[in-house]
Amino acid sequence: MGSAFDITVVSENNVSANEAIDLAVAEISRIEKLISSWDLNSETSAINKNAGIAPVKVSEELYQLIERSIKISELTDGAFDISYASMDRIWKFDGSMTEMPSTTDIENSVSKVGYKNILLDKNRGTVFLKNKGMKIGFGAIGKGYAADMAKRLLQKKGVVSGIINASGDMNTWGTQPNGLPWKVAITNPLDKDKAYALLPIKGAVVTSGNYEKFVKFNGIRYTHIIDPRTGYPATGILSTTIFAPSAELADALATSVFVMGVKTGMDRINQIPGIECVLIEEDGSVRTSKNITLEIKN
Ligand code: ADP
Ligand code: MG
Repeated sequence: MGSAFDITVVSENNVSANEAIDLAVAEISRIEKLISSWDLNSETSAINKNAGIAPVKVSEELYQLIERSIKISELTDGAFDISYASMDRIWKFDGSMTEMPSTTDIENSVSKVGYKNILLDKNRGTVFLKNKGMKIGFGAIGKGYAADMAKRLLQKKGVVSGIINASGDMNTWGTQPNGLPWKVAITNPLDKDKAYALLPIKGAVVTSGNYEKFVKFNGIRYTHIIDPRTGYPATGILSTTIFAPSAELADALATSVFVMGVKTGMDRINQIPGIECVLIEEDGSVRTSKNITLEIKN
């Protein structure tokens, strides 16, 4: 998925550990084939190619992922939207952009965005993007989904404990070999070698940060996470870490909090049972949702 996966398993010996890791890698590649919008032969590409033309029959797995993505759009008032993908044509975060896109280009790009125009037909198992030029992409949820699926597979194979880490999107199960819980370090985005805090994890933890992919115009830092309602990248937050039962939900919510901003984002997280959040604002100040207390390390 254009990103590194780290797989840790607790096992009796090297051979069974390596077998388990191979299984996880194969599962992640399988999912990548399904959801990639770069791979022209993927089901996702078939949906995109037929935007404004015809509904496309897809596997139940992809259908359900899209259905859950739309639910997250509803939960976040559209801050999260897999149809964001047409905005990617005007914002580039690979260093190639030299000036702000024009207001007209930005307005045109959002006119193609809107989860309400992703039409699902349950009986037929089809997905239809209503407007020409619409595109979906799983950049903000796919890594989390892959981590969940790899974990589920290894659990089914009897692996008692492990970590699937999709470049910062993690799902864990069991404990460390010494019986202690797995722990995650929250790093300071302004000084990546320094950990802010070490927290025990049960389940998934995902961090979205804008310190790697962003552009700067007139002193303002624009992240690779874009507000689907305005077409402008999110500003104001350096990193968001979400704790949740699944990495899929944590991944999607980490992106959503970026878009919703500090206040709305934190309020929304505090309303969802079982979800916690640590966010770092642009000035370096740290905020936590109501059930987390951080011991800041200096
Ligand atoms: P990270 O790159 O830190 O894993 P995210 O999980 O937040 O970040 O995913 C960011 C990616 O999600 C972007 O590169 C883009 O592909 C996609 N994206 C950007 N904005 C949105 C949005 N508002 N809703 C859904 N996906 C988005
Ligand atoms: Mg995400």
